[in-house]
Amino acid sequence: MTIQQSIPVPPEAVQPADAAPSAEAAARVTPMMEQYLEIKAANPGLLLFYRMGDFYELFFEDAEIASKTLGIVLTKRGKHQGVDIPMCGVPVERSEDYLHRLIEAGHRVAVCEQTEDPAAARARGNKSVVRRDVVRLVTPGTLTEDTLLDARTNNYLLAIARARGSAGTDRIGLAWIDISTAEFIVTECATGELAATLSRINPNEAIVTDALYGDLELGPLLRELPAVTPLTRDFFDSATSERRLCDYFAVATMDGLSAMSRLEATAAAAAVTYIDRTQVGKRPPLSPPSREAAGTTMAIDPATRANLELTRTLSGERRGSLLDAIDCTITPAGSRLLAQRLAAPLTDSAAIARRLDAIAAFVADSAVRDDVRTTLRAAPDMSRALARLSVGRGGPRDLAGLRDGILAADAALAQLARLENPPPEIAAVMEALRRPSRELAREFERALSEQLPLIKRDGGFVRESYEPALDEARNLRDASRLVVAAMQARYADLTGVKGLKIRHNNVLGYFVEVTAQHGDKLMAPPLNATFIHRQTLAGQTRFTTAELGEIEAKIANAGDRALGLELEIFERLSAMVLAASDDLRAAAHAFAILDVATALAKLAVDDNYVRPEVDGSLGFAIEGGRHPVVEQALKRDGQPFIANACDLSPVSPQAGEGRMGAGQIWLITGPNMAGKSTFLRQNALIALLAQIGSFVPAARARIGIVDRLFSRVGAADDLARGRSTFMVEMVETAVILNQASERSLVILDEIGRGTATFDGLSIAWAAIEHLHEANRCRALFATHYHELTALSAKLPRMFNATVRVKEWQGDVVFLHEVLPGSADRSYGIQVAKLAGLPAPVIARAKSVLAKLEAQDRGQTARALADDLPLFAVPSRAATEAAPPSEAEQLIEALKALHPDELSPREALEALYALKAKLPKS
Ligand code: ADP
Ligand code: MG
Repeated sequence: MTIQQSIPVPPEAVQPADAAPSAEAAARVTPMMEQYLEIKAANPGLLLFYRMGDFYELFFEDAEIASKTLGIVLTKRGKHQGVDIPMCGVPVERSEDYLHRLIEAGHRVAVCEQTEDPAAARARGNKSVVRRDVVRLVTPGTLTEDTLLDARTNNYLLAIARARGSAGTDRIGLAWIDISTAEFIVTECATGELAATLSRINPNEAIVTDALYGDLELGPLLRELPAVTPLTRDFFDSATSERRLCDYFAVATMDGLSAMSRLEATAAAAAVTYIDRTQVGKRPPLSPPSREAAGTTMAIDPATRANLELTRTLSGERRGSLLDAIDCTITPAGSRLLAQRLAAPLTDSAAIARRLDAIAAFVADSAVRDDVRTTLRAAPDMSRALARLSVGRGGPRDLAGLRDGILAADAALAQLARLENPPPEIAAVMEALRRPSRELAREFERALSEQLPLIKRDGGFVRESYEPALDEARNLRDASRLVVAAMQARYADLTGVKGLKIRHNNVLGYFVEVTAQHGDKLMAPPLNATFIHRQTLAGQTRFTTAELGEIEAKIANAGDRALGLELEIFERLSAMVLAASDDLRAAAHAFAILDVATALAKLAVDDNYVRPEVDGSLGFAIEGGRHPVVEQALKRDGQPFIANACDLSPVSPQAGEGRMGAGQIWLITGPNMAGKSTFLRQNALIALLAQIGSFVPAARARIGIVDRLFSRVGAADDLARGRSTFMVEMVETAVILNQASERSLVILDEIGRGTATFDGLSIAWAAIEHLHEANRCRALFATHYHELTALSAKLPRMFNATVRVKEWQGDVVFLHEVLPGSADRSYGIQVAKLAGLPAPVIARAKSVLAKLEAQDRGQTARALADDLPLFAVPSRAATEAAPPSEAEQLIEALKALHPDELSPREALEALYALKAKLPKS
């Protein structure tokens, strides 16, 4: 210590960047560096934003990283152990922007502030270093600022805990929190379900134990997340989890919160402990953890999500996704809720009906719908404003937002009261909107000015005559300003310079300014006795005077006092908000529900959607179904979308085994570009929309709850993970064949495309058999292997369908109509012609095809018969001419019957006729 005291250390905030320490000092650590290194060591893995005056400075490796990521200049500041210290800095005022970019780039930042006035440090002796402390760790999963968040998506922090079981029975506990909206959810799943669960939650940051992070099986899955933070075991200590949760929620026992499994509680405690750490003592209020029971949402794995382009297209954009097509919400909170619902469709038909009822009410009453939507336009993002205020990062506009929210609640209530018979979801919304205290809004109306600054330190947000003491301080400040104005007039007289001005900036404070031509005059006697030169700019010269300095101090004092009073008022109003936070949060959530319900109703009306019938059957009957995204795209080009029916309902309920008849498999053939993929996807999307409780793009839809949705496309490229495309295709197909249940809906698009013809055909063949016999699920299978159509003869629940095309003067015309039957050929050459292949190439291809077809006939059939002993495959010619199977005939006959129009005798005859059609065996 004595040695260090002997080293001259200038007051650090003004120490020049290139202060050259003596050779002796070079080997020493300055007190400031000592402090820096200590704080840095306490926050490993984070970039340290070290506050110095108006800048956050970064040193050493941090500076190198930040300068590279942010594109800012890397300088140096003094030496550490004889070596230059690399440094870069960001101005505090613009630090949010820089933070945003660092977080985006995957970094985490510790923000270290000066916790005392530099004057106080000097008072302790001029070698003292200003006290500093880390006030917050900024990580991707713990953000609250609007500038750092995407308004339309949740920002989840996810804690993942694992409990070891005997081989293959490990369980995973998950807890995810959005501190910007206070949402807190826990659940449990098996390790095999983790991928699907992660893609559903879509966290911005996950926290795990070091052990899990390094796990051979789960580690790679975790590392695909945008950010993963490995933590020490104590975060995930199950013995202390309950105590830590109680502590966070300031309750004595967890009983009042929610029933959680031990594993869920472990994850939940890790999440709140991490939030506690990152917010350094401030605890954003959270909703009590709500538990998501297993099986209450439709399971959708990551490949299916990507494939169906639910929230992003395959190329990664929001535009063109299902979410983009259906999102007519007005508020950010509504948009977030819709995205949440889309990520987790329900499996409980009663809960689905509740949502559908609300939409139906707004479909029926367009006047109320439009009025409510107008009100929503004025409703701010209350939950995020609330979160910011609760961690002390709120501003005057957040208070105003809550005021406007409460006022909007009154408007919405008046509008909703006009609904004849509000269904339960809307009734609950109304109840929540009544909760926030109106007195709070009135108080805020009285307190807040019309024009509000972004940050509270700018002051001026409290209305005149709200608080007498504040008015007094402001009057004093303003009176002094009048004195300044008088002084300006007097100085102008004194100097004879008409254009003399008294101005103010943050560096000089108040100063006298004259144009350069008058500068010399003020610097010469006698005026230089009064005017002290401060600064010469290109066009102006600036001066100060003793008198101005005195006035300045007075103004600053009155200003400080006014600002101090305003900040006190701000704290008081914030405290009122926090006391009412439960009610405000409930109202905020109610607005989001209202937004989603009215938005989906508007979509239903605008795009002609109908209410689906969702029940516990295994039915799946769509009439006039459309693809929501393709339809919109075609509409923009003035093209119609051709609606198509799809019926995968069980053919007949089977007796015995106590199970319902399994659903159908449709095999769809047809040329490229005919519309096979579109048809497959539209049916999956209709099921999904129905289960999020939305109307659907169809003329009629009846859907038995789907527990899992699977969608695969043959030979999808997945170069990023370094697997061959065919390998990916097979891995994904294996998942389906292993997991799909009778209740699942499976969409397979050109599976088997990624390998040689016979290989691919065989795999597709066996996969269909397995789906039919073992999975027994409802399925759609598009293929270019015409040979597969032969399967319908053997598999009673498999049917052939084809997308119609017409040949017109040698060209192929796509009609996009899905009909029973199979495609007669692939029209590959016609499609190639459409695509603009040169005429000679087309002509040559035609002649090659003719030869190949002539040769191929006998061989293909023989080869298949050898390869696939299970089924003798008829020749291609026979396939094309194949008469409808008995089952198909039976169905056609049944479909043609209209019981209501039959006399008893006719009915009896029909029954005999049906019986006669039965297979003879
Ligand atoms: P396939 O999978 O058979 O090659 P796609 O499903 O990819 O064909 O469809 C090709 C294009 O045809 C789509 O991009 C779309 O523009 C159009 N299309 C598909 N289905 C329809 C339909 N039902 N109505 C109108 N256009 C359609
Ligand atoms: Mg296709």
